[in-house]
Amino acid sequence: MNANRWRNWSLVFLFGGFFLMYCGVYSARLLPYLLAAGSAGVVAGILLYFRYGPVNPSVRTVDCPRCGRATRLTGKEDACSHCRQPLRLTDGGHYEPYVK
Ligand SMILES: [Zn+2]
Repeated sequence: MNANRWRNWSLVFLFGGFFLMYCGVYSARLLPYLLAAGSAGVVAGILLYFRYGPVNPSVRTVDCPRCGRATRLTGKEDACSHCRQPLRLTDGGHYEPYVK
């Protein structure tokens, strides 16, 4: 799974968590559970975002060889956020495009 997808998932967790907590307003009986589940979702979203998001200092900015725009990549395999070109890390420390 590439970092872009994780970034989207972290946003889903964040908003899903807030939505769950908001639903608790309508049911006093479920409120404690919804609050707990909601805050767990928010925390998970924040952790994911710190791991894969732009605030992670180990994320490198690379000029995409296909579309030429700067994109941020993590791990051994990732994809350009603009054109979705899959890129992988070579032994020399550079990213190269490849076909899955
Ligand atoms: Zn690209």
